[in-house]
Amino acid sequence: MSSQKQFRAIKGTRDILPPDSALWNWFEQIARETLESYNFREIRLPVFEDTQLFARSIGVDTDVVSKEMYTFEDREQFHMAHPLSLVDVIRLDEAVAEGWQRGTIPHTSANEAEVIKLHEACREIEREGTAAVLRFLDSVRNLALGDSLTLRPEATASVARAYIEHGMQTLPGNQKLYYVGPMFRRERPQKGRYRQFYQVGAEVLGQSDAPAIDAEVLEMLLLLFKGAGLANTTLYINSIGCKECRSKYVELLREELRKVKDKLGPDSQRRIETNTLRVLDSKLPEEQPVIEKLPRISDHLCAACRQHFSELKDELHLREISYDENWRLVRGLDYYTRTTFEVTATGLGSQNAVCGGGRYDGLVELLGGPAGVKGIGFAIGTDRAILSIQEGEKVPHLPGLSVFIARMGAKAYPVAISMARKLRACGLAVELPPQEMKFGKALGLADKLGARYALIIGEDEVSSGTYTLKRLADAEQKKLSENELLEYLESERRGSGA
Ligand code: ATP
Ligand code: MG
Repeated sequence: MSSQKQFRAIKGTRDILPPDSALWNWFEQIARETLESYNFREIRLPVFEDTQLFARSIGVDTDVVSKEMYTFEDREQFHMAHPLSLVDVIRLDEAVAEGWQRGTIPHTSANEAEVIKLHEACREIEREGTAAVLRFLDSVRNLALGDSLTLRPEATASVARAYIEHGMQTLPGNQKLYYVGPMFRRERPQKGRYRQFYQVGAEVLGQSDAPAIDAEVLEMLLLLFKGAGLANTTLYINSIGCKECRSKYVELLREELRKVKDKLGPDSQRRIETNTLRVLDSKLPEEQPVIEKLPRISDHLCAACRQHFSELKDELHLREISYDENWRLVRGLDYYTRTTFEVTATGLGSQNAVCGGGRYDGLVELLGGPAGVKGIGFAIGTDRAILSIQEGEKVPHLPGLSVFIARMGAKAYPVAISMARKLRACGLAVELPPQEMKFGKALGLADKLGARYALIIGEDEVSSGTYTLKRLADAEQKKLSENELLEYLESERRGSGA
């Protein structure tokens, strides 16, 4: 028996294999087409960013930043000559001192401690030899020369960073951007919750915060879900006010929460002080009666926010969009303002949110960008959207292999190659097996591969110029000339939407 380690995908990550991958592509294609029909354009972003970008925008009191991020040091190492002589050690010690002085070694407190240790170790080496050399080398290795980087847990911060970096506020109109790709959060893996998961997201950034923008974003989102056949989705909306009215409300909420603190669990108790609004998010059954009695933001919005929310609802009516209001729908981050929303779908158990989003008028400024830039956006959890489609009744039938070519005889081979090329040029998926097979065996394989047709090319077919096309579902056979064959299969393809 082999004692070789069997490698497996890391906990919380997974492979998306065919035929599921076709469903993923189909979903993402519908998303792209829908978003582009609203004049959103794709932005391709890096998968990792400066850790501070997420810490600042998402907030250090959130679960995402405090415990779920994949953070690593972008570590370079000092070049070390081997074996080290005392002269090398002294040179390295000098290089480190110079690096520290010039700032090429970042001035962090960890680095400072390491630099001090390293100098001491160098003096010891001069006195003691080998053991001290090893300590010295450890210190050199511990120097973090690079930056702290994080695999993105979400992409809104990256979009805002790119907006600022490329001066997009000078471009005409609002920037309507979308992205598609993986996100990373170190959460407890379960159905619909992974450590590498995928999102399709869209953001509108610009000078206007007109409720029509919010309504259009929601219309687009629901159209996308409808196009993808997501059954039983529900849209929940809320307004969490602006800087002024929300902070007054949060004060009030905190006071009320302190009074009922004893009736809440440890997570909520902690959040009263660190992230008050998030208490409203609690799903714990025993906390529900307490939370239901708390003051509601809708009674505390300022006139402008109330107006914005009411106009949004008018805009939704205009677009014939139905929704439920949910006063407990909050985003616990400081930069969120006014509109927040979530879409749930069936078949997902407790992870039933397929999309979350909202307005974040303060974000660009918070990240050091120009003042007054408003924003709104959403992120769809693709893993959950796919799960919901798979559990529903409208799983699309996606085209697979169209034609398997069964050939016999030396003269048939070049004809088979040229037919394969022509059929592929018509947009059909064609399998031309690398070796000749007996017809019976070839047809058996065609069937197992799920081909719709087998095209039979033997020496007789080559000399007569007619080919036999066999439909594998019912074994119906047709004899067709090359032109007839291409025409027939093309029209079949169009008819099946393949
Ligand atoms: P949840 O409350 O379900 O944890 P969230 O508020 O953390 O969601 P957002 O940050 O708003 O989620 O992300 C938007 C969407 O991304 C969610 O509605 C969900 O569909 C999806 N999502 C978030 N985290 C995960 C994950 N770990 N695995 C799969 N999908 C996820
Ligand atoms: Mg979450």
